[in-house]
Amino acid sequence: MADNHITTINPLTEEVIETYPFMSDKEAEDVVKASHEAFLDWRLKSLDERAKVIAAIGKKLREKKEEFAQLMTREVGKLIGDSRDEVDLCAAICDYTAKEGPVALADEEREVDGATAFVSHAPVGVVYGIQPWNFPAYQAVRYSIASLMAGNGVLLKHAENCTGSGEFLRDLYEEAGLPKGLFGVLRITHDQSDAIIAHDLVRGVTMTGSDKAGRHIAAKAGEVVKKTVLELGSNDAYLVLDDADLDLAVKTCVAGRLYNNGQTCVNAKRFIVTEKNYDAFVEAYAKQFDAIAMGDPTDDNTKLGPMVSREQRDKLHEQVEESVSKGARLVVGGEVPDRKGWFYPATVLADVKPGQPAYEDELFGPAASIIKAKDDHDALRIANSSRYGLGGGIFSKDVEKAKKLAADYFDTGMVFINSFDVASPSLPFGGVKDSGYGREHGPEGLKEFVNAKAIKIAKKVAA
Ligand code: NAD
Repeated sequence: MADNHITTINPLTEEVIETYPFMSDKEAEDVVKASHEAFLDWRLKSLDERAKVIAAIGKKLREKKEEFAQLMTREVGKLIGDSRDEVDLCAAICDYTAKEGPVALADEEREVDGATAFVSHAPVGVVYGIQPWNFPAYQAVRYSIASLMAGNGVLLKHAENCTGSGEFLRDLYEEAGLPKGLFGVLRITHDQSDAIIAHDLVRGVTMTGSDKAGRHIAAKAGEVVKKTVLELGSNDAYLVLDDADLDLAVKTCVAGRLYNNGQTCVNAKRFIVTEKNYDAFVEAYAKQFDAIAMGDPTDDNTKLGPMVSREQRDKLHEQVEESVSKGARLVVGGEVPDRKGWFYPATVLADVKPGQPAYEDELFGPAASIIKAKDDHDALRIANSSRYGLGGGIFSKDVEKAKKLAADYFDTGMVFINSFDVASPSLPFGGVKDSGYGREHGPEGLKEFVNAKAIKIAKKVAA
């Protein structure tokens, strides 16, 4: 924050894109009130009426895909192809929600003795979302579309780096037919945010970001007894078991680490490889990482763009250096390049051990941590010893064994077998332990901010 303004900066050119004033307390209050006012009508619309508007938002996202993608790449340095894919995913979330929302949120009849009863999924009111910069469109779409489908009002406090994307999305929603003010964007400081959490008209809080910020926000919401959903960071482990297809594992783990310039909560971050495959994995992985060149994210051929900010880049570099000073082996990369833009090279750390940031913490950028395990059992033990638990992966030719390990033993919210993936509109997305709680997507996400109201009607009493 500089002199009460937000300044967005292009990570490739280090040039200012735009300057926005922070809102005064009164302006922020007006945004909250406008969302609540619009909610009072919106909550009475039928599920089908709401679904029509959600479907129209999906259509509008496809119409404006290129413009939105270019804006995101300018603001946060994403590869342009990843930005386009992100808008497609947002449109797919709208399609899914428009189709399945009315089913998931319909009234449900329930058996009770001596009466008839039903459960209505009533909206709760205005839901406040605090979101990060790594997916400027998707992060804001995934909670807002579910909440709007449920009949709620929605507020967004986006990360400062992608202020333009938040405002673009608000205008797009309104162009598609969402009532004005229902989705309100706040340009506020963290202190002002605490007051929004406490505001009487705000009925729920959903936050995606670091576990440090998540703890603060959940504590603030706890003081005023408001429900939170927390989607936090992780250091997702991908297990390469004795019977893995090694070529597939290397190729997938390279792509899984570098996706979105390595700045995704569910990037594959730690590779836990059994002794049997370890040396071959490190060699093949390092060879592929070494061939990754950094470049302009607007060029379709670029494989690795800049990181979002100087601060994030320097933090990653410090974590790499500390890991090396504590015994990790630097195999590829690890040097800040002498060029404009917040670039960090594709970096491989091997022999990563407890006590090193590359083992314990989240490396939020293009640096891979490779860890040796004695055997399959030890690999799972290492994965589960993390304080995080968002996603993870298993490479094994025995799919039945992998399914059992995923379902019964892997202590995370999502597991990918012989693959890497990010999010699917129909599957619950979220974590356990320090990765947070609550779910986005699927029927689970649609019901996070509803009041499951029990309504019981007495059977006619005999005269
Ligand atoms: P961050 O926690 O610093 O910021 C995220 C958002 O929270 C921003 O809007 C920021 O302004 C806001 N924020 C931070 N402190 C706040 C406070 N005290 N009060 C109010 N708002 C506050 O995270 P970041 O560095 O921008 O994002 C990267 C982190 O997000 C990584 O840890 C990543 O794994 C995580 N992430 C998680 C998911 C998920 O779905 N689990 C998705 C994307 C990113």
